[in-house]
Amino acid sequence: YGVPKSKSKSKPTNAASLDGMDRIKVCVRTRPMMQWERETGTKDIVEIHGRDGVVIMEPKVALDTSHYTQQHTFRFDEAFHEELSNEDVYRKTIEPLVEFVMKGGKATCFAYGQTGAGKSYTMMGTDNAPGLYMLGARDIVNMLQPGHKIWISYFEIYCGQLFDLLNKRKRLHVRENQFGKVCVTGRMETEVKDLRGVMKVVENGNRLRSTGVTGVNADSSRSHAVIQMDVRDNQEEQLGRISFIDLAGSERAADVMDTDKQTRHEGAEINTSLLALKECIRSIDQEKSHTPFRQSKLTHVLKESFTGDSKTCMIANISPTNLSSEHTLNTLRYADRVKELQTDIKESIK
Ligand code: ADP
Ligand code: MG
Repeated sequence: YGVPKSKSKSKPTNAASLDGMDRIKVCVRTRPMMQWERETGTKDIVEIHGRDGVVIMEPKVALDTSHYTQQHTFRFDEAFHEELSNEDVYRKTIEPLVEFVMKGGKATCFAYGQTGAGKSYTMMGTDNAPGLYMLGARDIVNMLQPGHKIWISYFEIYCGQLFDLLNKRKRLHVRENQFGKVCVTGRMETEVKDLRGVMKVVENGNRLRSTGVTGVNADSSRSHAVIQMDVRDNQEEQLGRISFIDLAGSERAADVMDTDKQTRHEGAEINTSLLALKECIRSIDQEKSHTPFRQSKLTHVLKESFTGDSKTCMIANISPTNLSSEHTLNTLRYADRVKELQTDIKESIK
């Protein structure tokens, strides 16, 4: 069904090499210029250097590329240039986590960035380019032991509320039990046996995304979409879990000054959740005893992603054009703060 067979050779992996993996991986991916962007004289101001470097030119005035003020250089765990496919990105991000999940680990992958930068292309994919969740499901299905099963849940977080995308947008609630384990009560879980099953469930869910209270389809850039795949054994005990999160457009966090009250409210919620997310991922790295996961619904639901035996991967999606320079810089700075690899190196341009 359009998802190519895994090309990766089976590498001998053992517990030691899995332990050697970073708990947090932060990557950047730039999308190609769209045809209309090229046709309207838009400039490409992003360059990927080597395996992990990103250079961006900052125009003096956003739409005017005749003068640049500064060149910013960032370094991440990986930087993916525009020609790399979802499969290429998959191999460097999710693939190394699949075995960890099959052994009972919890893995979480976030797509962060401005609307239009390629988050959904990366996570959900298109007809011609299967997204990371499908490629992950393909490998999990292939590695599944006899009797073991995959269960999927899929929900959306909009304005601090959870809606079940597998069950008519039913409102869901987050509960913490006496042992501090967080669960989403009442959510629909669907057992799937193969890749086709996974895709059908997610596609049905996608049709229910972001229908506002009025029943009209609100803009899906204002909500976080969370796909979770649980691997369970024949006794229905949970083993591993992998979560794929297509985050709300990061530029929406700036809508806090909007004239429309609802838009302002949505913006404030997005701002809170993205800030909490950054703090929670940072606390994994710093091995802090306290993770501020209660600061937002997003981080509360994902508590287990920040504690215990977990691994997190963030893909910061960026647009390459001068029209997005400000948002792109914000995204790069956010990703940089999530895991301080190397701070923003600025060089002035005369
Ligand atoms: P977002 O979810 O961040 O708002 P989308 O994933 O919808 O952004 O991407 C915006 C547009 O760019 C879509 O038309 C998408 O198909 C296209 N696009 C994004 N990333 C790529 C890519 N790596 N290669 C080709 N087209 C891309
Ligand atoms: Mg999207």
